[in-house]
Order: sequence, then structure tokens, then C-alpha cells
Amino acid sequence: MLTGLNIAVIGGDARQLEVIRKLTELDAKLSLVGFDQLDHGFTGATKVNIDEVQFEEVDSIILPIPGTDQEGTVDTVFSNIEVKLTEDLLMRTPDHCVIFSGITNDYLNNLVQNTNRKLIQLFNRDDVAIYNSIPTVEGTIMMVIQHTDITIHGSNVAVLGLGRVGMSVARTFASLGAKVKVGARDSAHLARITEMGLTPFHLSELEQESKDVDVCINTIPHLIVTSKVISNMPAHTLIVDLASKPGGTDFRYAEKRGIKALLAPGLPGIVAPKTAGQIVANVLTQLLEEVKNEGKGLSS
Ligand code: NAP
Repeated sequence: MLTGLNIAVIGGDARQLEVIRKLTELDAKLSLVGFDQLDHGFTGATKVNIDEVQFEEVDSIILPIPGTDQEGTVDTVFSNIEVKLTEDLLMRTPDHCVIFSGITNDYLNNLVQNTNRKLIQLFNRDDVAIYNSIPTVEGTIMMVIQHTDITIHGSNVAVLGLGRVGMSVARTFASLGAKVKVGARDSAHLARITEMGLTPFHLSELEQESKDVDVCINTIPHLIVTSKVISNMPAHTLIVDLASKPGGTDFRYAEKRGIKALLAPGLPGIVAPKTAGQIVANVLTQLLEEVKNEGKGLSS
């Protein structure tokens, strides 16, 4: 139970509603900022403006998955009122106040550094990233079905990167009957790809390996699908780039060559906001128990 914890939930989309639901069930006291247009109410949660939050009593601040923008503005889907997280506000919180965010940026990093507060990036955690890869894969399947006129079964799929997303993507497309090859640079990854019964190739071979690809799914957040790689692809190849913005594809060249290339960020929030919210809520609950019990010393 989270009885006695004061938490400010600042901004967010449908995923954050799952977080609010779970935390109120566990008896935390919530101040909700950026939810004034939400019809639904939650027992134990009060909708307030940011200037009404008693930051002096806040044990934890929960930001949405994207955190803030570079000016500190927090995305609020359920409000038209601009919400900004500033140094002045954070300075008012108790020393043990922990800030949770999906990802971070320079603004947020500077903010927590200048105020000496702890920031936990949830999407840095393996558990969150692996759970989150499940709706990501389902969204990828949806996109591939929507943008091709062939079945996944029997098609040549190249997955780039064998990280947390790449592994789930490769395994699932193989289960659907695709002929999957996976590009990686680490010899341990190449071994794992072989162990998974898939075809490995070193990323240095990507130009050659692109010649017979129907669908190329990139998970590497660096320019990897270069103009040279694209120029070797068949004209019908679909590129789905899952890597965080700006992706790892030369989109300008793909368009010039007439190859369909789609940057597909935020798939979990699009195809399964409820599950995506539950993933975050479950991990947050464990971490907030630590805030409650220890106040400090959280593992990130
Ligand atoms: P990850 O576990 O860190 O995996 C990244 C992979 O990229 C690793 O295999 C890594 O290989 C490889 N890589 C990184 N830099 C490279 C480089 N310069 N050259 C070659 N390979 C490189 O990350 P993840 O959790 O799988 O996430 C992958 C991307 O998907 C991230 O950008 C993440 O933000 C994004 N994402 C998108 C969605 C969506 O809805 N589109 C959902 C979840 C995540 P090494 O181990 O050899 O470095």
C-alpha cells in the first residue's frame, strides 16, 4: 500500500489514467495537474492547477512518458492549460522527492541536477523496456499489414538490432512465418540470433543483405539505413523505423527512391494505451513502495 504518500501526477495521456487508477487503489494521495478536462474522477485524487500543488509535501512527481520538452512544458492531453515544470517549483519539494519520467532530455537533466533531486527514467529499465516491447511488436505487425500487399508469412524480413525491441520483433515475425534475418554488430548478439533459429548477419554487410528484403524493421537509434542501403533494396520494400526520433533511416533518400519508409514512434500508446499504462503503473508501484519505505536510495 502507498498510504501516506503524496504524489503529483503532472500531465500525460490515456496511459497515465492507468497509473492514476492503480496509485489511488493503493491509497496514495494524488494531485492531478493537467486533467481538468477529464470527466472521470478518482477517489483520493484531486484535480488542481500547478500553482495549487503543495510542493512542500510532495514525495514524488510523476511526469508523462516523454517527460518535458526543452522548455520544461509538460504535455497535457486532458487540458488546454500550459503546464511547466520549473526549478522554482522543484526547489519547494522535500529533499527526498523523486521524479519519475519515461525518458529525459537536457532540460529535465539540468532541472534535477540544479535542484539536487533524483530522476528515474522508467524506459531505461530493462523490465519496462521488455514489457513495452510487447505492444510495440503488435503495433509493428499492424503497420506492416497496413502498408504491404503480401502476407507476413513467407516474406523476407530484416530486423536491425537485437536489443529489447529487436529481439521481440524478430521472434514474433518468425512465429508468424516470416523468413527473418537479424543484423547486429556484437558477436554475442550474432550467436543469440543463431540460437533463436534465425539468420544472423553483421551490420557491416547490410548493403548486401538488403537486396532481397520485403520488410526492413529498424530498432537502432543511429543512421543505419543509409542511402546506399536503400539503393540496394527492391522497390517494393517497406521500411518501418521503430528507433526513437529521428530514427535510423535516410527518409529523404527513401522518398526520392520511392521506397515507403515510416517512422513509427510511440506504438504502445497508440495500439494498447491501457496495457502500456499498466506496464508503467506496475513498475511505478514497486518503486514508490521504496520511496515510502526508504525515502532515498532507489535503484534505477
Ligand atoms: P536497446 O535494447 O538499447 O537496443 C538497441 C539496439 O541497437 C542494440 O542491439 C544495439 O546494439 C543497437 N545499436 C545501438 N547503437 C548502434 C550503432 N551505432 N550501431 C549499430 N547498432 C547499434 O533499445 P530498445 O529498448 O530495443 O529500443 C530500441 C529503439 O526503439 C530505441 O530508440 C527506443 O527508444 C525505441 N522504441 C520505440 C518504440 C516505438 O513504439 N516505436 C517502442 C519502444 C522503444 P549494441 O548492443 O551492439 O550497442
